[in-house]
Amino acid sequence: IIRMQGVNKWYGEFQVLTDIDLSVRTGERIVICGPSGSGKSTLIRCINRLETVQKGQITVDGIELTAGGKNVDAVRAEVGMVFQQFNLFPHLTILQNCTLAPMRSRGMSRAEAEEVAMKYLTRVRIPEQAHKYPSQLSGGQQQRVAIARALCMAPRIMLFDEPTSALDPEMVKEVLDTMIGLAEDGMTMLCVTHEMGFARSVADRVIFMAEGRIVEQGPPAEFFGNPKHEKTRQFLGQIL
Ligand code: ATP
Ligand code: MG
Repeated sequence: IIRMQGVNKWYGEFQVLTDIDLSVRTGERIVICGPSGSGKSTLIRCINRLETVQKGQITVDGIELTAGGKNVDAVRAEVGMVFQQFNLFPHLTILQNCTLAPMRSRGMSRAEAEEVAMKYLTRVRIPEQAHKYPSQLSGGQQQRVAIARALCMAPRIMLFDEPTSALDPEMVKEVLDTMIGLAEDGMTMLCVTHEMGFARSVADRVIFMAEGRIVEQGPPAEFFGNPKHEKTRQFLGQIL
């Protein structure tokens, strides 16, 4: 469903991604980890074209992400994204946060969009918060709203960029549980996270990045049990 071939990206002189080859199958669950600055966020932001690349090819669900950028809307409709900072609109209620994009870009009526929104707010177990504003919710609740909001667009792929790292420890679990639920439903997921428990139990494949390259990847049992690359061992030694 995703194919990156020979992807290279520079910020000015600085090469942030080097020779990235990555294929993701429908339904696959991938965890990406690696040191700060290794290019994890940049990599997943390329998938919904929040970033452009100078070299290489990216195809998402059959949509070629050309340099011209004419496929941006098509690809954003297929790919949902959840950020570290929840990025909810503060002046809109939870329900309005969830109905805005489906009404604007999917052409749904308000009633239809509200029905879909309530379905996903129920699924992330906060339907009773629908008429509150983001600032009235806990961090964990806000992040679950962000997940529900993304799901309202019926994406085929979900990208998560450190969704739990801005949360107090007691709220991490409720967000991870929501993500586990999505994985169980067969969603194609790419998650940048250092939650290695989540990686072990949910990921089909763990990818380790360093200095803009994919250094090592494999099923979690192999990745954690027998990391091959020195940089991977160093990294795991620091975080486990
Ligand atoms: P972290 O774990 O800290 O989130 P990361 O692996 O997600 O790190 P990126 O955010 O992808 O790393 O950044 C990779 C490198 O690219 C970093 O060195 C960063 O300083 C640089 N970088 C990121 N965005 C920009 C930008 N807009 N302009 C210039 N350099 C950037
Ligand atoms: Mg990052």
